[in-house]
Amino acid sequence: MALVRRVYDRLRAHYGPQAWWPADTPFEVIVGALLMQQTSWGRVEEAIGNLKAAGLLDVRRLARADVATIRRHVRAAGLYRTKPARLRSFCRHLLARADGDLGPYFERPTAEIRADLLAQRGVGPETADSILLYAGGHPVFVVDAYTVRIGTRLGLLPSTRYDDVQAFFEARLPRDADLYKEVHALLVVHAKALCRPRPRCPDCPLLRICAYGTGRKR
Ligand code: SF4
Repeated sequence: MALVRRVYDRLRAHYGPQAWWPADTPFEVIVGALLMQQTSWGRVEEAIGNLKAAGLLDVRRLARADVATIRRHVRAAGLYRTKPARLRSFCRHLLARADGDLGPYFERPTAEIRADLLAQRGVGPETADSILLYAGGHPVFVVDAYTVRIGTRLGLLPSTRYDDVQAFFEARLPRDADLYKEVHALLVVHAKALCRPRPRCPDCPLLRICAYGTGRKR
């Protein structure tokens, strides 16, 4: 736990608390997670804003809407041939599975919900875990490309496979959804600010404990 905890402490001291994910409701988190693939958060925000303005950010209304209407509002998020239909299909599944009520949907064992999410079209492990953690409050660690980039450079990760990286962090952090959210958000902000594809190591709060930054192998 020690090194992961030091990474967290230094990033938090450097960037401050993140309180991610910015959304008014768990359903908004789900829509954001489904739209997030292969695009930037700014574009997802724009798409969600369009859905809100049209009164469509609602599970029943999205489930009933035609795909062309959804496409018009979420076009900013890209993949417009697949995302609108997947979004509607997911809403229809929520209605069928839990009458659109997220309370009972998330009041099941984590593994059962995760399997249900992964069975939906276009939902991979990162999307499923983002929904579980940020919409459902389940303590699952979300892995993304930023986590892998930073973890690899720090010399922490024995493997870059999704399940291995997730297991690595979950084994070294207390099982706490709020902590998982903060660690994930801090890694994202760090990857965007300093640990970029071309990293700015001299400015980095992790420099002294980073294998890449110090040129040391672990
Ligand atoms: S020292 Fe460089 S490579 Fe290491 S975490 Fe910081 S920015 Fe990334």
